[in-house]
Amino acid sequence: MTAGKGIPFVDLVAPHLELQEQLMDAVKGVLTTGMFVGGPMVEQFEQEFARFSNAKYCVGVSSGTDALRFALMAAGVGRDEIVITVANTFAATVEAIVQVGAVPHFVDIDPQTFNISIDSLRGFLETQCDHRARGRYPVHRASGRLVKAIMPVHLYGQVCEMDALMTLAEEYGLMVFEDACQAHGSEYFSSRNNAWQRAGSIGKAAAFSFYPGKNLGACGEGGAVTTDDEDLARRIRMIRDHGQSRKYQHQVEGYNGRLDALQAALLRVKLPFLNEWNRSRRELAAQYNQLLSGRDEVKTPFEPRWSRANYHLYVVVCAQGRDDLQKHFTERSIGTGLHYPIPLHLQPAYAYLGAGENSLPETERLAGKILSLPMYPQLQQDQQKRVVEAIQDFCERSAVSSGTR
Ligand SMILES: *Cc1c(COP(=O)(O)O)cnc(C)c1O
Repeated sequence: MTAGKGIPFVDLVAPHLELQEQLMDAVKGVLTTGMFVGGPMVEQFEQEFARFSNAKYCVGVSSGTDALRFALMAAGVGRDEIVITVANTFAATVEAIVQVGAVPHFVDIDPQTFNISIDSLRGFLETQCDHRARGRYPVHRASGRLVKAIMPVHLYGQVCEMDALMTLAEEYGLMVFEDACQAHGSEYFSSRNNAWQRAGSIGKAAAFSFYPGKNLGACGEGGAVTTDDEDLARRIRMIRDHGQSRKYQHQVEGYNGRLDALQAALLRVKLPFLNEWNRSRRELAAQYNQLLSGRDEVKTPFEPRWSRANYHLYVVVCAQGRDDLQKHFTERSIGTGLHYPIPLHLQPAYAYLGAGENSLPETERLAGKILSLPMYPQLQQDQQKRVVEAIQDFCERSAVSSGTR
């Protein structure tokens, strides 16, 4: 896929060719044990991924979506309770909230980081909720619902402003569930703790996805919850396995949501390379930043001092003509993406939530301007230069046609 003229948006073949032998050995190993669901492969991967994320426990599940759902369920977030999140995320964030019976409440995003705006979050809690006493959840005045949790999304692999978020959460007694589905290995410098923290080690629990295109991808579906809470981990283990505490002992309502042994075995081969892959992505991002610096037409991603993003996505903001620029890329066989073109509150599925147009101005403004450029560890420097040349070429042409030169 790296050969030829086109530049794919993401390359899912190259890493598997590089590791082909080890991956095949891992598959053979599982085939000969006959243990396909659960078993030592899954347990070993869980231990390794917990260590990687700097969390005490990891529970492998069948997808990032299940990771989010099971974490909420296990923590007792449920019917008619509010979970605060953002609308510029993948639908799974909101699916998880709705499918446990809870109600998402969207707050706006920070225009620089594109992540949850701490001011909007505070504004909602201070002006729209009653907080009667410590140890009690705030009540959303308009609906009478309890506000129970915040689900920050570490979008594009950049961790949210977690010190401020955790401080607010503690002040209001809210639980925090990180949607870390794009943030494997991303880091945040916490001034509160005077330490770099990994995504997945900060909130009450965090969800990761091993969908093939993620920084750590399975060859199929997979996900995991990380947490330091032993009891929560135990409950999630039951929920993913039909609510069983042991065979045919159904303790709670559960699901079929396990990580299978083949995926765990393949993930174990890849995990030791993840830090290195993330480092490559960061170098490529720095290179993009440099090549694009001084261009007013596209704004490169903002990375605060306290952030070490894993650059799951490299997203630029176009001053104007985003759709034309994307078309220009397509004509040159350069793959790009939109993450995400329509914010969730404006999607038909979530119209019933009643957050109409203009309710989240920053979220809505950005959706029409963002463009995700090719980004993966195997991206070559000359390919990157061609991506940037395509942008330069586009800018010159539009300058000519608009008569500004
Ligand atoms: C990928 C993703 C998910 C869902 O993960 P799946 O494994 O596809 O279920 C959830 N949230 C975000 C932000 C994601 O990018």
